[in-house]
Amino acid sequence: MSGSVMLLAADAHTPSQGVSYLVTALYIVAFGMFIYGLSGLTGPKTAVRGNWIAAVGMGVAVVATLISVYNNGSNGDDGETVGVPTINWILIAAGLIIGVALGIPPALKTKMTAMPQLVALFNGVGGGTVALIAWSEFIETSGFSDFHGTEPASPLVIGSLIAAIIGSISFWGSLVAFSKLQEILPKGLEKFFVGNAKVFQVANIALLALSVGIAIFLGVQATDGGGASTWWIVGLLIAAGVMGLFVVFPIGGADMPVVISLLNAMTGLSAAAAGIALDNTALIVAGMIVGASGSILTNLMATAMNRSIPAIVFGSFGGGDAGGAVGPGGDQGTVKATSAADAAIQMAYAGQVIVVPGYGLAVAQAQHAVKDMASILESKGVEVKYAIHPVAGRMPGHMNVLLAEADVEYDSMKEMDDINGEFSRTDVTIVIGANDVTNPAARNDPSSPIHGMPILNVDQSRSVIVLKRSMSSGYAGIENPLFFADQTSMLFGDAKKSVGAVIEELKAL
Ligand code: NDP
Repeated sequence: MSGSVMLLAADAHTPSQGVSYLVTALYIVAFGMFIYGLSGLTGPKTAVRGNWIAAVGMGVAVVATLISVYNNGSNGDDGETVGVPTINWILIAAGLIIGVALGIPPALKTKMTAMPQLVALFNGVGGGTVALIAWSEFIETSGFSDFHGTEPASPLVIGSLIAAIIGSISFWGSLVAFSKLQEILPKGLEKFFVGNAKVFQVANIALLALSVGIAIFLGVQATDGGGASTWWIVGLLIAAGVMGLFVVFPIGGADMPVVISLLNAMTGLSAAAAGIALDNTALIVAGMIVGASGSILTNLMATAMNRSIPAIVFGSFGGGDAGGAVGPGGDQGTVKATSAADAAIQMAYAGQVIVVPGYGLAVAQAQHAVKDMASILESKGVEVKYAIHPVAGRMPGHMNVLLAEADVEYDSMKEMDDINGEFSRTDVTIVIGANDVTNPAARNDPSSPIHGMPILNVDQSRSVIVLKRSMSSGYAGIENPLFFADQTSMLFGDAKKSVGAVIEELKAL
């Protein structure tokens, strides 16, 4: 997405015929690469290649846009050669250098577990850029009144106004999402928003009405030929931005993944709107691809979480410390600790073992050890399956990617709906660094902040072994009754070390 907004660096007018054909051809190549690259993202095996293809496609689109800028500059409207103002090239070069310098190091250094924060930040940068472009277009076109001197101007004006609203919501919302995922948001602030969710729902509706109202006013002013004061667009950006903050602040645990995906889709749609405003086909196509795929992903995740998108945006669900949360050491009962030797014996003599991976598996980087453990169990005649919850970990597909990295067979990775019926027939379920996605309170306790979230039915298994370091809560910040259940025993420690110890015991059996 951040790449697609680079296309905003240039504004297409009417290039000379030959170069115009070249630009169009390059854009078509770029679009083909975006779509082919995206199709690679449907499976972990082809995802890396797909990402590279789409990135190269974005490079082609940027080069085509720069050629188009050069062509516009060298052929003025009256046919006279006017050249490209040097300052534009300096600005474009400076933008590229700053973007590369700021984008590549974190992309290379960020750990897999912190990738969602980085994605939220990059996404926010895309939305913010679109909002700034809409603002600068407003200034450059005297309040949209002489929008590029084109007729009809209305789609361009509407495109700019939509870009301003969605881009601003996306920027500020993504910054809050980043702060939450990075855990730098003061807990008191989050609590305040969760506690007053109803007030903020009303405020959000008012802010949406205000943003749309200002946009209609600006559109009418532009059509009348008189540009409004710059303060109006600043007011629109502020109203939309505050709405972005208020929408994301109260969202916690279970809804965060859906919100991140929604913000991503919004940035794509705002970039497409900016493409309409700038009359730039490449930006429209790139923005629509991000917007459409992000919207499909959002819908799929919301369906998997048994939630509607309006309920997520205008409600709050699973807030960090929301009511119903029980701190560690609550009156849940006693916890049974177990040893690697006992865990190994239980699994070695089981008919079927289900592995439930979660965020802690990613933190511990235990995927290769888990695969080794499963291979030993299979060599002993035990059937091993992996249960994948749609929001396990910290990003969509997180567990699939980790397990694929360790060469776990795709056939043994089972989606939640496919495996949930099997837990009651399973001898041993081993939960590795997962917590919220196994919490039976989501099913049984209406006062739980995650009530209604579909979970893996681990509690129905005959025996459960949980690998984690302590009794700490997961992302939603709530107690998990599974850990206190009669059939559950806890193997405390770092997941990689614990699995390593179990492997040694299995080898000795
Ligand atoms: P959770 O966040 O619920 O729990 C992870 C558990 O892992 C913790 O309880 C922690 O316990 C344990 N852990 C951490 N490090 C280690 C380690 N080195 N070794 C062993 N255990 C470790 O994870 P889940 O995957 O169950 O659930 C995901 C949560 O994240 C859901 O609430 C989801 O809504 C949310 N989320 C998901 C996103 C997505 O797109 N997938 C995005 C944003 C949020 P301890 O400290 O005791 O070890």
